[in-house]
Amino acid sequence: MSEIEQRRQALAARLPELKVDALLVSSAANVRYLSDFAGSNGLILITRSEAHFFTDPRYAIEASQKITCKVQVVKGPLLAAVAAILKRKRLKKIGFESAWLHYEDYIKLKEGLPLGVGLHPVGRVIESQRMVKSPAEIQRIRRSVAVNSEAYARTVKRAKVGLTEREIAAELDFQMQMLGAEKPAFETIVAAGDRSALPHAHPSARRLANNELLLIDMGASVEGYASDMTRVVHAGVPSKRVRDIYKAVREAQLAAIDAVRPGVATNRVDAAARAVLKRHKLDRAFVHSTGHGLGLEIHEPPRVAKTDKTKLQAGMAITIEPGAYIEGFGGVRIEDTVLVTAHGCEVLTPTPKDLLNI
Ligand code: ZN
Ligand code: ZN
Repeated sequence: MSEIEQRRQALAARLPELKVDALLVSSAANVRYLSDFAGSNGLILITRSEAHFFTDPRYAIEASQKITCKVQVVKGPLLAAVAAILKRKRLKKIGFESAWLHYEDYIKLKEGLPLGVGLHPVGRVIESQRMVKSPAEIQRIRRSVAVNSEAYARTVKRAKVGLTEREIAAELDFQMQMLGAEKPAFETIVAAGDRSALPHAHPSARRLANNELLLIDMGASVEGYASDMTRVVHAGVPSKRVRDIYKAVREAQLAAIDAVRPGVATNRVDAAARAVLKRHKLDRAFVHSTGHGLGLEIHEPPRVAKTDKTKLQAGMAITIEPGAYIEGFGGVRIEDTVLVTAHGCEVLTPTPKDLLNI
């Protein structure tokens, strides 16, 4: 049995505890996880004994070539075909992904079903199944990380004062695609000077000037799998203030990485980073969580945050990315992609973490 069939079987085995006869999967990432389908219009219906895949004629060839579910190519709304199968199989309790089914689609589906058939919201069950990666998935994440770091290395060599954030972002994206990425895993962040204090800055026409920080947050998508890395470099010799902030963030990042091992709750990892920044009086400047899971999506469970108590398990891939952001001055974030291993963790990102002067 293929890995993908095993995933579907593991999900089907959970239907009784979810108290449903079938589960409608509408999240694109979950559809991909369960079928390898990478198109934009696909649905999967998992029953206790079968898996049905629905798509439109644009994807008929792709579906017939690689999808091992029962494939239905539907002209018109996919949900009408889903409702028809539910009726034919006399399924009564239908689970749906409440985070991923639009309300309009929910209404349409409900209207297509006979009285007595119930739609039951289920949480992110497939996402929790996705948290622990298989060896094949880990290989893809490793390749994604390698492409990403190499694209960064090639670009940073050529980065210089006078270039705009957009030009640098375009070069990063170009390099990662030349190295084999399908696309960036998210919109590449390049932020110069005081704009580096905006944790999610969109690259602008702002030019890098001398004596400024340059923050780069980038990820590649390789065979569907994301990587994620942040580095900051400095144009010219950094001031003591820049060096101090950088050192504090790096210390926080290393402390969080040190805390990563199976059995530890993610909020403990977050607390390890926060404690270091507090000692440096930078805890208030750390305005986001310490990290997140990644895989088929750039952000997926678990969150490495104050409020998340997921116990880490070997095979989880997460980011560790504390930062400190000071309005009018700039920001520093250091982010690696990290794999939880049997006894600790492996930092997958090979890019050095010294503050580089360009
Ligand atoms: Zn990132
Ligand atoms: Zn991240």
